[in-house]
Amino acid sequence: IWSNILDYVRQNISDVEYHTWFRDVKPLGVEQGELILGVKNAFSQEWFKSHYVKLIEMAMRDMGAQNPKVNFQVLPAVQDAMLLPGTPTPAPAPEPRPAPAVHMVTEPNRVNLNAKYTFDNFVVGPNNNLAHAAAVAVAESPGRAYNPLFIYGDVGLGKTHLMHAVGHFVSERHPHMRIEYVSTESFTNDLINAIRDDKMTAFRNRYRSIDLLLVDDIQFLAGKERTQEEFFHTFNALHENHKQIILSSDRPPKDIETLEARLRSRFEWGLITDIQSPEFETRVAILKMNAEIRRISVPQDVLELIAKHVTSNIRELEGALMRVVAFASLNNVEVNRSVAAKALSEIFTPNTVQLDMNDILRSVANFYGVTPEALKGTGRAREIVIPRQMAMYMIRELTTHSLPEIGQFFSRDHSTVLYAIQKMTEQIQKDTELTKVAQQLSQRLKQSPM
Ligand code: ADP
Ligand code: MG
Repeated sequence: IWSNILDYVRQNISDVEYHTWFRDVKPLGVEQGELILGVKNAFSQEWFKSHYVKLIEMAMRDMGAQNPKVNFQVLPAVQDAMLLPGTPTPAPAPEPRPAPAVHMVTEPNRVNLNAKYTFDNFVVGPNNNLAHAAAVAVAESPGRAYNPLFIYGDVGLGKTHLMHAVGHFVSERHPHMRIEYVSTESFTNDLINAIRDDKMTAFRNRYRSIDLLLVDDIQFLAGKERTQEEFFHTFNALHENHKQIILSSDRPPKDIETLEARLRSRFEWGLITDIQSPEFETRVAILKMNAEIRRISVPQDVLELIAKHVTSNIRELEGALMRVVAFASLNNVEVNRSVAAKALSEIFTPNTVQLDMNDILRSVANFYGVTPEALKGTGRAREIVIPRQMAMYMIRELTTHSLPEIGQFFSRDHSTVLYAIQKMTEQIQKDTELTKVAQQLSQRLKQSPM
């Protein structure tokens, strides 16, 4: 049975994911219809619970199980190995901080603010400082700063996080206030249900008695006339009573097609602010914060490696970090640069991983008409020093090797390598000829990893 389940799983996830997670899982048996799987440690137990329960249950159902259930147990032997000195000790589960009590509007479980999404856990950078400042202003005086606050930006850049942060902040300061966070989808569904069940009065009462309404992904109002109509009235009722409204969207109001003009103009009444992709330093800071929240220690150069390669989306950034930590923990090794590179080989461009230091050395030597041996040697002539610095620079740019590893390759210590790379970086910035050389070399190497 288990091998069938594995086959099913394998078809539905990537190879790397499969090998990272499923290689060491042991079926322990079936207890009262529940499949018990043994996993290596508490960390992977949590990971399985949050990522693979559905998939495994689907696999079981696929094989005919009526009411599939799966549970996980930590295998004792490996648990001990985790405690050996020198092995990383990832936090078992990122223990959510207790969420402040949030006032329910009608039924319980409606208000679902993520306890992690607070201002404290939000890294402010040049990409999001305006949106952050606006959110803080609104949180400090709801209904009186900017109303509505409209936050837009691409997916995974922190819009939902900021909205929840306002929710937490307001609920702590004003425990009596009614706060509701809804996705535009669930607003639409509520409306459809209310219409179907003839409960429009209840629907209106509920939405119009909110003090702070957070509506996420409002771009999904596009093309939904009836929902737009109802939302228009909800908006007006709240706004007239100085109740705070915060909206998020993946684009500014003017770019939401088929949005009624009267709604669009209302969305533009308050403040419109955007969130951009974070730059390198902010990405590193976010990773650092993430590691701290999860109480795991990750070396700076690993954070930088991840931040260098995962550039677009913060959720992916966090996913990459978790993958690295998980990979190290499952293999009982310390988190370092090369472990991280291995764990992430799938999401890095293939060339970054495949390129070998010798290939790069040869290619640079070739370009300058010198021998690779000379570049590895001790010669101090300018004709050698520049190409040598370029080779170190290229290796650092195009591979995931650490400074000490590059140093070893050149029989030098890592500070010498660091100095050479810094020197070359400056030169390339100043000297347009050199900029071209670097571009050519890098292109050549990327195209034909020898
Ligand atoms: P969006 O709603 O824009 O798609 P989210 O708010 O869901 O994005 O953010 C995606 C993930 O990135 C969340 O886990 C969130 O906590 C995290 N995140 C986004 N921005 C920041 C930030 N500035 N600091 C720390 N974490 C962030
Ligand atoms: Mg969101």
